[in-house]
Amino acid sequence: MNEQPSSHQPPSTTPRQWERYRHLELFRDVNPAGLEGLLENCFEAVYRRGEILLRAGSENRFIYLVLAGRLAVKLEGREASPLVELGPGACAGEMSILSHVNVSAHVVVVEDARLLVVDQEILWSMIDASHGVARNLLYVLSGRIRQVNERLLESAASLERFEQYATVDALTGLHNRRWLDDMLAHEIIRCGRDDIPLSVAMVDVDHFKGFNDTHGHVAGDEALRAVAGVFDHHLRPVDTAARYGGEEFTVLMRGVTAEGAGRIAERLRRQIAATPIPWEGAILHVTVSIGVADGVPDDTPNDLVGRADAALYRAKINGRDRVETGLE
Ligand code: GH3
Ligand code: MG
Ligand code: MG
Repeated sequence: MNEQPSSHQPPSTTPRQWERYRHLELFRDVNPAGLEGLLENCFEAVYRRGEILLRAGSENRFIYLVLAGRLAVKLEGREASPLVELGPGACAGEMSILSHVNVSAHVVVVEDARLLVVDQEILWSMIDASHGVARNLLYVLSGRIRQVNERLLESAASLERFEQYATVDALTGLHNRRWLDDMLAHEIIRCGRDDIPLSVAMVDVDHFKGFNDTHGHVAGDEALRAVAGVFDHHLRPVDTAARYGGEEFTVLMRGVTAEGAGRIAERLRRQIAATPIPWEGAILHVTVSIGVADGVPDDTPNDLVGRADAALYRAKINGRDRVETGLE
């Protein structure tokens, strides 16, 4: 239910009164003669700052026209930031009346307000009696739709930003494990369907624990960024790299079998070994070991990554700073 108005006085629609109403959105360019007998049945009410005029979910039978003061439309309680503010001239409550539904948002008084309160029966009579009122209501509604569209666009944009955060590794800017898991499952199906070979390389920085122990963790972070930079600059546009976790990376290579992928991996290995990592006046280097495997029919992501991992293990035991493929 609506709150009761704090005080009210019946207006008489004298010309002086009309002077105060004619600037209301609903009455703009309206001939007051058409509203004879209707305005007299509306009343003015004063609401204090903090009062709730309309509560989301409640029934409503009034439209409120703001003569002075300010209202805010909010989705949650009084503390939430307003969706929109309504100042002198604006109206509130029309949506629930026109669509015969309960109120969809809270309307809160943010500055002491003087409102013209129009009962729904009177509003419908005004619409019947005056083209001007009907037209003005259309303006009001189209404004509301525009506001809603703007909010939707804003929330779509922030959703996109959040999704981006959720799939990007903060340290390296590469895709993260979550992205990789989704993408690998998707790519296995897509490449299988289109009969395109798909290969995977697992890349692991050699003796990285020792690197951290010698140069510090911050230098280690710098080294991981340097490795990521090589992927950024030296992969073909159709290939993508992700940080699998810790000092391990995964590269997805489309359109090549293990043999071609092995050559790409060898280029990456050399490039990484040759990449200088400036640190406290010195130039540091890291090397990586890489295991490569290509997809076979009915592979799961785990099968494919597992074979690349087995090849990586061989690269480690065969001396590190080398590429092994799952060919044999
Ligand atoms: P191997 O050649 O056999 O791969 O030896 P390794 O020392 O690289 O392997 P190990 O798994 O023993 O150590 C991995 C190290 O990577 C230990 C861990 O502290 C370090 N590491 C993992 N994530 C990060 C990170 O985000 N930043 C830094 N600086 N170090 C990391
Ligand atoms: Mg490792
Ligand atoms: Mg390692």
